[in-house]
Amino acid sequence: MALLPVLVLNSGSSSIKFSVYETGNSERHRLYEGAVDGIATDQGKFWIKDVDGKKLVDATPALPNRSVAFKLVADALNSEDFPSPKAIGHRMVCGGPTVQDNQLITPALIDEMEKYTAFAPLHTPIAIYIMREALKLFPGTPNFAILDTYFHRTMPEVVTHMPIPEEYSAMGVRRYGYHGISYESIIYQLQPNIPEKLIVAHLGNGASISAIRNGECLDTSMGLTPTGGIISGTRTGDIDPGILLFILRKIAENTESATAAADQLETVVSKRAGLLGVSELSNDMRDLREAIKQGNAKARLAVDKFTWTIAKWIGSYVAELGGLDMMVFTGGIGENDIDSRAEICAGLSALGIVLDAERNNVRGAATISAKNSPITVRVIPPAEDLIIVNHVLRLLGA
Ligand code: ADP
Repeated sequence: MALLPVLVLNSGSSSIKFSVYETGNSERHRLYEGAVDGIATDQGKFWIKDVDGKKLVDATPALPNRSVAFKLVADALNSEDFPSPKAIGHRMVCGGPTVQDNQLITPALIDEMEKYTAFAPLHTPIAIYIMREALKLFPGTPNFAILDTYFHRTMPEVVTHMPIPEEYSAMGVRRYGYHGISYESIIYQLQPNIPEKLIVAHLGNGASISAIRNGECLDTSMGLTPTGGIISGTRTGDIDPGILLFILRKIAENTESATAAADQLETVVSKRAGLLGVSELSNDMRDLREAIKQGNAKARLAVDKFTWTIAKWIGSYVAELGGLDMMVFTGGIGENDIDSRAEICAGLSALGIVLDAERNNVRGAATISAKNSPITVRVIPPAEDLIIVNHVLRLLGA
């Protein structure tokens, strides 16, 4: 089989990240990775580097909007300098109730997924925009939607069903769960020794935690939207619904339309809350750790809320799984913040989770539990692009 270049696209609010893999039957070699960053700011950057880290493109273009940014990527990858992609995988956070399988992107599929942008309002509109552009700028190349919700499709109804009137459930309101591609990549890396009872904590700017039995998702902390679950950088996580009503009524006192009030509430719970809201300083763990060293009490409280909530969630998932064999930390905080891992695990020795302080003093992949810990604790960086490539190849073959 000739080697096939596959492009992976992962778009955020101010950036478009991408990587190109060369693939064969069992080969998966990353050739290039790159990004356009600083969209709609005056600090636009466009770079592409090869596997050795050598920058092949390193530019500071004007990036007034996403269209200009994506055209730069498409023009570069369609030029003779790079192998033109034969298939494209798009990371899609949520396709709604009707699109739960990874699949070929068609205009009709995009229209269907667009009906449910409210379920991941910070992510879906951007991904959909890039999908439409990719169909235009890479004509004839098959594009595939690879969903973060796909991994969570095995959750039982008792977990996915929300305690709300049936009419809203019928509209697709349920627990979907996110970070699924990251979770899949952890299972992939644990093969062939997948523990029966596993908890994975994906702790990045957005944070979630999943209970996984024999490699299949049993429960996950995020719900209808990525704002649910554990507290994260700028998001509340699960919260007393009465608080939402209180804030909504306060906003409504000075707002003309109900839609405008709802938009403002969304900003409060998704962009102004979490670590940022409590610390009134930053959503970035590195800033908060620095502030804690300087004696900043609000930063201390924010981080304590974060680690405390995660420890509580771990406790409930151990109960749900009926025990635990392994716990994995991943995501920017999970991989790098030694103190967060120590603080989360500090109160969990009764559950059999015992860290070794010296082993925990690492960044990146490692086993960090004590030799005599009944439960193994590991740090494993995610490999999301690789999972997207695997799905693309499976779908291409199908
Ligand atoms: P995203 O969810 O946007 O992909 P990441 O997985 O990159 O985010 O995680 C970002 C978080 O990881 C930030 O809170 C950042 O402070 C934290 N982080 C990254 N590197 C370190 C580090 N060396 N020490 C502590 N925290 C870190």
